[in-house]
Amino acid sequence: MTQSGSPAPGSGTADGTTDGTDGGIPVAALERWVREFARVVHDHAAELTRLDSAIGDADHGANMDRGMSAVVAALDESAAAGTAAGGAAALLKGVGMKLVSTVGGASGPLYGTFFLRVATAAGDVDALDPGAFAKALRAGLDALVARGKAEAGDKTMFDALAPACDAFDDALASGASLADALAAASAAADTGRDATTPMLARKGRASYLGERSVGHQDPGATSVALLVRAAADTLAG
Ligand code: ADP
Ligand code: MG
Repeated sequence: MTQSGSPAPGSGTADGTTDGTDGGIPVAALERWVREFARVVHDHAAELTRLDSAIGDADHGANMDRGMSAVVAALDESAAAGTAAGGAAALLKGVGMKLVSTVGGASGPLYGTFFLRVATAAGDVDALDPGAFAKALRAGLDALVARGKAEAGDKTMFDALAPACDAFDDALASGASLADALAAASAAADTGRDATTPMLARKGRASYLGERSVGHQDPGATSVALLVRAAADTLAG
């Protein structure tokens, strides 16, 4: 996993940009990520809703599917009109705004805020090196926390996203390739998702159930694990 004779993939350039030839992530790959997330959310909509019916109001699958379908429709429209977003920030900002405006409940503002902050942190670049992408994800996580005040163990999206960010950072720091770091992040998100089952919900609708929330996997952590897996499946080229 460690490399000799070549710079670590996380190093990139001082301004966080890359020409996309050193393990960088071009905007086209970010768009593939967003589209893949929409696809898997659609495929898992029934499962997400089933999970939310146990400890919420049975709408997480429908919420996320509606939002991500709207995101894809907007991407298709701009592609057809030849007005596709140029840089990373424009693309991801479009995703965040669409989610905020089309997804109700807790998850719309939380996912929307996440993507908006990832967009700002990414900047309007043509491509991101892995280290810059890691920083952008971390900024998105921080924004989610600022908005929802979730802490580790509260049984929320945080419990999948935070371990994913940590694993991604750790893997890049130890010299892993982008593909390996993303795979580590996805595995950590899956583990974090599974770990929500025995947790007692302390945030969001599930917290109203108190002890009765124990024994059920969190729907938001489940969709986050899909988001990170979609990244692993699309961003490393
Ligand atoms: P709602 O609960 O309003 O119906 P959704 O069903 O779409 O919204 O989303 C529920 C998910 O939102 C939960 O499973 C949880 O992961 C996440 N969530 C709720 N509140 C918070 C919060 N304060 N911080 C982080 N995630 C949260
Ligand atoms: Mg719900």
